[in-house]
Amino acid sequence: MTSYQFKCKDIGMDCDFQASAKTKEELMPKIGTHAKNAHKIETIDEALQTKVNNAIKKRMFF
Ligand SMILES: [Zn+2]
Repeated sequence: MTSYQFKCKDIGMDCDFQASAKTKEELMPKIGTHAKNAHKIETIDEALQTKVNNAIKKRMFF
């Protein structure tokens, strides 16, 4: 099983939020919602998108 994990700290935020999902496609909306609610970021622009993408870690479970 594969899991994608994102930690807000990994993009330099002073924030304990973390999210995980089975696919990146599932994970992105969770990050988007959090960015909006917690950081008042309405739209994730290309630079932030790249940062987020780099911060997402793929994990394998056996
Ligand atoms: Zn955060």
